[in-house]
Amino acid sequence: SVPASIASGLSSGARRGLLMKGGAVIEATAKIANVAFDKTGTLTAGRPVVTNVVPLNGTTEADILAVASGVEAGSSHPLAEAITTYAQEAGIAPLASSGARAIVGKGVEATVGDALAWVASPGFASDAGVLDDAGTDVAARMEDEGKTVVVVYREGRALGLIAMRDEARADAVEALRQLKVLGVDGVMLTGDNTRTAAAIAGHLGIDFKADLMPEDKVAAIRSIAREGVMMIGDGINDAPALAQASVGVAMGSGTDVALETADAAILRNRVTDVAAMIRLARATMGNIR
Ligand code: ADP
Ligand code: MG
Repeated sequence: SVPASIASGLSSGARRGLLMKGGAVIEATAKIANVAFDKTGTLTAGRPVVTNVVPLNGTTEADILAVASGVEAGSSHPLAEAITTYAQEAGIAPLASSGARAIVGKGVEATVGDALAWVASPGFASDAGVLDDAGTDVAARMEDEGKTVVVVYREGRALGLIAMRDEARADAVEALRQLKVLGVDGVMLTGDNTRTAAAIAGHLGIDFKADLMPEDKVAAIRSIAREGVMMIGDGINDAPALAQASVGVAMGSGTDVALETADAAILRNRVTDVAAMIRLARATMGNIR
């Protein structure tokens, strides 16, 4: 009977860490034609590591790291983790900061020793008029290598640049190949800039949309198709985009995955499991017809 096949599909998925919240989700998953991936933590490991610290305007690496790690102490973003860890390993103490707040989709700002300080994207810094053409060029060259670059600012001037690399997941290329076999198109969505996104997407062989604010990710999902769109995200920051998709999938390791915000979850933290979930759903619905 119909319910028996669906129940067996759901339970065999659950045994493999492919959680789907009921029969309607398995039915929608069987019809998926497009998969949108949030870049960070799904196609990449989600653990950026500092690769370059570039002084500007006569500063030193130590100046840059003391301010940056002070500001980032108030942020839980993966880039903040990368910067505070790097400063600590370099033996640089963070300057005391207060009142840290996110500049949504662009960075974080705080007060450091009575002065406004921030760590934010080069685009934000040039809009603010504190990154000159030479600094912009240095940032662009590192972005073309697939690195994410941030500008460190305090008291009226840019102190320097910090570049970070977030490695592509080892199984990302294989995952995209398996989706292609299923006739499913992939697209990468990111708040990162176009240069960095192009370098990473080019390496993976996937289309991309970059420079997206959180609400732009919702519009991007809508623009792909009305139906048959799966979104893969971390389940915490991506809740609106996960909700907009026909099937929103949270990907992570273990039981801390935020299944409340998603229709489905991949618990074993393997991007190839996206194709496995679609294959399982198609096989389950095929048994019914
Ligand atoms: P995504 O989740 O797609 O990577 P985000 O919206 O989290 O995008 O971030 C977009 C961009 O905003 C980052 O690439 C970076 O330039 C900047 N940014 C966000 N948060 C921070 C932070 N805490 N420190 C420095 N830069 C940040
Ligand atoms: Mg994010």
